[in-house]
Amino acid sequence: MNKADSECIAGIINEKFNAEIEEYFVDDVKNFDIDEEKINSGNNFLIINTCIVKQPTENKILDLMRKIEQRQENGGIKNVVICGCLPAAYPEVSARFKFSFIGTNVSDINKAIEETIEGKKFVQIEKQKNKVSIPKFSFNKFISIIPISEGCISNCSYCSTKLARKNLTSYMEEEITQTIKKAVQCGAKEIYLTGQDTGCYGIDIQCKDIQCNIVGLLEKISEVPGKFKARVGMMNPDFALKFLDDLIEIFKNEKFYRFIHIPVQSGSNKILADMKRNYLVEDFIEVAEKFKTIKASISTDIIVGFPTETDDDFKHSIELIKKIKPDLLNLSKFYIRKGTIAEKNIRTKRWKHDTKIAKERSLLISKIFREISIENNQKWLNWEGEILIDEIENNILIGRNFAYKKIHIRGNSNKEDNKDLLGKFMNCKIIKARKILEGEILEKF
Ligand code: SF4
Repeated sequence: MNKADSECIAGIINEKFNAEIEEYFVDDVKNFDIDEEKINSGNNFLIINTCIVKQPTENKILDLMRKIEQRQENGGIKNVVICGCLPAAYPEVSARFKFSFIGTNVSDINKAIEETIEGKKFVQIEKQKNKVSIPKFSFNKFISIIPISEGCISNCSYCSTKLARKNLTSYMEEEITQTIKKAVQCGAKEIYLTGQDTGCYGIDIQCKDIQCNIVGLLEKISEVPGKFKARVGMMNPDFALKFLDDLIEIFKNEKFYRFIHIPVQSGSNKILADMKRNYLVEDFIEVAEKFKTIKASISTDIIVGFPTETDDDFKHSIELIKKIKPDLLNLSKFYIRKGTIAEKNIRTKRWKHDTKIAKERSLLISKIFREISIENNQKWLNWEGEILIDEIENNILIGRNFAYKKIHIRGNSNKEDNKDLLGKFMNCKIIKARKILEGEILEKF
């Protein structure tokens, strides 16, 4: 969703100013360097799209902002706009810096730029109304990120995303399918359908021609002409269960990757209740097992060290991971996020937060998952079939098969030849399956 916002921001600026756009992904703030001369020439801008899902990420972003402010004070980088979840969830941050601020309301970016050029500080933090048909600037022209909704109907006790993205706003099916149609006509081969919880799509709107839910939307998307693969974004287990049989049917359609991201968060029902998640572990198991029957990849999330998590609860999370053997595991240590129910319970001493326990549990579960991952990968050895090359990393072509499995293929020594393969469907065979899957190309289409 955050990346989709970046593409909207870039698209809006590109349309209005015909701007040259460069994207940086800042992970290492200490060593991040900016070509100051370039940024200060003409009306150039530095726009920082922020994420706050975890405390360390927020800390990094604040460090980056301080670093840039210092340079500004020393006559460095002039024009800076901060946007995204940090100001949206915690608007008070705008008072601590001299930069301009917008929230997740990306369409305010032009106003922010114009005022900042005039030397004014622009602050307008509002929720975005509709993002789907905003012109996008794709950083990878073969991948189009399309938000189908923003916000959710849950109130998970640990979550700061909700503070930024608020209640559910679903976009109209016609706009979504039209946007996908245009993206495919412009060469997109992979469509990421995003939302905080794609499963609750449609609950807040009236649809014209479809059942107003995720299944109705996916059915319509499957009718969009052209060869492409759509990846359905995170869906909470309660909604996946509600639409399970229909989802299984629609995921059999070639237009969709057989890949489901169902964040379970804990293997203990007691912890799920404390997290205010609206399902049971058993619901998650039912969904995961059913998706496995169509050879879909399962991606899930686990939070360890939740304040009320006992050794026994944690054991249940380990047992669950061993039972389901997910293909992807997004593991997080619990962090206190300001403004959440968990933070209040810790502040008032109802709950106790122990960072050491979270760290130990995280190490243990990572080790278990590494073994599961190798075991899962080995099942793919000698697999042959179609993949889509969607990325190139240091001369390695990265392809995805029908189950969104990542397959590395050694590229040509001539980098230019590799670029021509991006966005192409090919037949490949998996020749090595350990930590990563390695393949070789059998035939190009
Ligand atoms: S579903 Fe829960 S975790 Fe996801 S955005 Fe909503 S409140 Fe946060």
